[in-house]
Amino acid sequence: MPKASQQGLKVLLRHSRIRQRVRQLARQIERDYKGQPLHLICILKGACIFLADLLRELKLPVSVDFIAVSSYGKGSLPSGEVRITKDLDQSIEGLNVIIVEDILDTGLTLNYLYRILQSRKPKTLKIAALLDKPARRIKEVPVDYIGFKIPDAFVVGYGLDYGERYRNLPDVCVVPTVEA
Ligand code: 5GP
Repeated sequence: MPKASQQGLKVLLRHSRIRQRVRQLARQIERDYKGQPLHLICILKGACIFLADLLRELKLPVSVDFIAVSSYGKGSLPSGEVRITKDLDQSIEGLNVIIVEDILDTGLTLNYLYRILQSRKPKTLKIAALLDKPARRIKEVPVDYIGFKIPDAFVVGYGLDYGERYRNLPDVCVVPTVEA
């Protein structure tokens, strides 16, 4: 695969730095849960690489499930409406749940999902987001684990796409021509 720079992309976070931060997050989660079983919910598709790396770092009894959502009105006027396009396979009642998300932007998606999942009566519900763009926040979201705060730019790589491209880039990169 051509280097990011050859594809007109600018590297924002190198893979080695991401791996190191994911390791730190895993240690923090282990301290918080003290050996208790943990259920990770991955928001498809962008969080799949973050989930895979986090999962392999965690020295706890861990189970996983996947959920997919689509947002309406994204772009200049986000409506805040979110639709579940693939629901969880198993009940989360009574479980220690962490929602694993790639990037927190306006907060509309996670705000909606958090409320839906909370209504399903987990024992605890937390959020881990690899990236956070605080400048764009519309809805506040209680995020417990954040990898990196980043500037207001459209990013790809490490699972994140632009029109389904670039998910396989190891680094997180900025696409200079795309508006966040
Ligand atoms: P929010 O509801 O917080 O505005 O949006 C979260 C979702 O928007 C993320 O899960 C992701 O799918 C998408 N998103 C937000 N910012 C970016 C970005 O910079 N790059 C990519 N590839 N997706 C983004």
